[in-house]
Amino acid sequence: MNSAAPLLDEGIRGTAATDHAAARKSFSPLESAPTGKLLLSADGLTKSYGSFQALRGISFDMREGEIISVLGPSGCGKSTLLQLVAGLAQPDGGKLALDSKVIASPSVMLAPEKRGVNMVFQDYALWPHMNVFDNVSYGLRQGKLRKADIKERVNELLTMLHLDGLEHRLPPQLSGGQQQRVAIARALATRPRLMLLDEPLSNLDMRLRVEMRSEMAYLFKRLGISVFHVTHDPEEAYAMADRIMILRDGRVDQLGTPQEVHSRPASRWAASLLGAYNGLKGAAVRTGDGTGWAASIGQARFRGLLPLDFDNERGDRELILMFRPEDVKLAADARMADGDNCLDAAIVHCAFEGGRWRALAETAERQRFYMVLADAIRPGTMVSVKLDPAHAFIYPFEK
Ligand code: ADP
Ligand code: MG
Repeated sequence: MNSAAPLLDEGIRGTAATDHAAARKSFSPLESAPTGKLLLSADGLTKSYGSFQALRGISFDMREGEIISVLGPSGCGKSTLLQLVAGLAQPDGGKLALDSKVIASPSVMLAPEKRGVNMVFQDYALWPHMNVFDNVSYGLRQGKLRKADIKERVNELLTMLHLDGLEHRLPPQLSGGQQQRVAIARALATRPRLMLLDEPLSNLDMRLRVEMRSEMAYLFKRLGISVFHVTHDPEEAYAMADRIMILRDGRVDQLGTPQEVHSRPASRWAASLLGAYNGLKGAAVRTGDGTGWAASIGQARFRGLLPLDFDNERGDRELILMFRPEDVKLAADARMADGDNCLDAAIVHCAFEGGRWRALAETAERQRFYMVLADAIRPGTMVSVKLDPAHAFIYPFEK
C-alpha cells in the first residue's frame, strides 16, 4: 500500500507543473467555470418543513475540482441544500445525481456514507474526548489501512494544515482556528470526492477568518478537491469560489463566477447583498441618442447596466439605481460635460473608518446614499458626485 502520498502529492504535483497557467486561469476576470467531468447535478430540488417551502426548485451542475459557494442570508435554505447533498435529508421533489447516477429524489435515497462526501460543520463537531490524532484518523481507523499508513497520512494532513506538534492535544486545548483546521483535516483524511462546508469560518474572529479563507481556497485548489461551501459572507464566497450561487428564499437568484456576480448582479436584491446597497429611485427615460434607457433621478440622468430582460416598451416605469459606496467619486467642481451620471448632493454626516471616511449624502429630492471618501467633508457642504455607468446597476423598482 503506498499510503497517503498519492492524493496529496498528485494534487500538488498536478498543479505545480502548470502553476502559472493555473494561476492565470483562476484569477482572470470573468473566467468560465472549471470544465472537468460533471460531478454533481441538481434538477428542480424542493424541500418543505411542514407547510414552509425551504427550497423551491434548485437546479445546477457542478464539475470535478470546482468550488461552489452558496451565498445568502440566514434562513434562505443554504443548510437545507447542503443536507440534501450530504444525504442527511431527502428532497420532496426533483433529483440529485452524482456521476450521472441519481442518488436522491422522492423515491431514491443513497445513504450518506455511500456518497463519497464529507462534511465540516460550523461548530466543527470534533470529539472532545479524542486527541487531534484520533479525531483526524477516526474515519481511516474504520477502514483497512495499516497503522503505519494511517500515521503517515494523518501526519501529512497535520503538516498541511499547520497542526504539527498538536497531535496529543484535546479539542478544548486548541484555539478556534486550530479546531477548525482539525475538522477540515478529519474530513480530508478519507479522501472524499466532495467536501461540504457549512459556514466553516463563522465562529472565528475576523482576522483569522480572512486568513483562513485564503488558506482554505489555496489548499483545496492544490488538492484539486471539489467543494460545496455555504456562507452568508460575500467576501468569503469571493475568496473561495469558482462560482457563487446566490440563494434567495429557496431559489437560485444568480449563479456565476465571483467577477460576474460582482460586476453584474442579476437583481436589486443580489446587488444589495453584494455591497451595492445604495438605492436611488428614478424613472426610465430615453438616452440622448434614443437607442437605450437611462434612469432619471431629479434633474440627473444615469446610464448604467440594465437587466438583460429589461422591457423597453414600458419605459415610463419607476427604476432604482443601485451602487456601492466605494464606486461614487467626487466630481471635479464642474459637472462632466454632458452632465450624465453626475448628481449634486449635500453631505449630511461623515464618519471616520480608519484610513477612510464614509459620508452620508442627500440629493435635492431628499434621497440618501453613502459614499467612501479619502478625506473628511464637513456636513452641510454641497458636492457633485459621479458614478461610472459600469458601476451603476439599474433595476425596475418593483424587483
Ligand atoms: P440557512 O442555512 O440558509 O440559514 P436553513 O436551510 O437552515 O437556512 O433553513 C431554511 C428555512 O427552513 C428557515 O426558515 C428555517 O427556519 C427552516 N427550517 C430549517 N430546518 C427546519 C426544520 N428541521 N424544521 C422546520 N423548519 C426548518
Ligand atoms: Mg445554515
